[in-house]
Amino acid sequence: MTLFDKILAKEIPANVAFEDETVLAFHDISPAAPVHVLVIPKHKWMRFADLAIADPKQIGEYMSAVARVAKHLGLEESGYRIVFNNGRDGQQTVDYIHAHILGGRRLSWPPG
Ligand code: 5GP
Repeated sequence: MTLFDKILAKEIPANVAFEDETVLAFHDISPAAPVHVLVIPKHKWMRFADLAIADPKQIGEYMSAVARVAKHLGLEESGYRIVFNNGRDGQQTVDYIHAHILGGRRLSWPPG
């Protein structure tokens, strides 16, 4: 059971930004930008790499929901960045797939 399983089960509180039948989105506890929201699917995958063998329809529903969350956050006009950290070198720290939505300022590139 990861931290995000517990947040989804409402065993650990989170500042929820958006929820529907597909995803739960909540504000990152340590924001890296003025808007920093994590979006997890209710259907669990551990990491982005798992999507290689996942049901494309389910993946599509997840991606569509991530885009809806960004719109809900008011970032559509200004733009935003979606990040999936995957595995050790990607610095993934929670083994439950999560999209980072980052926005509210001009982000630098390339990432560190
Ligand atoms: P990762 O590094 O795995 O891609 O992202 C994990 C994210 O979860 C980090 O940005 C971290 O700040 C965030 N995080 C860690 N613990 C908590 C928590 O208890 N609540 C919330 N809302 N975010 C957390």
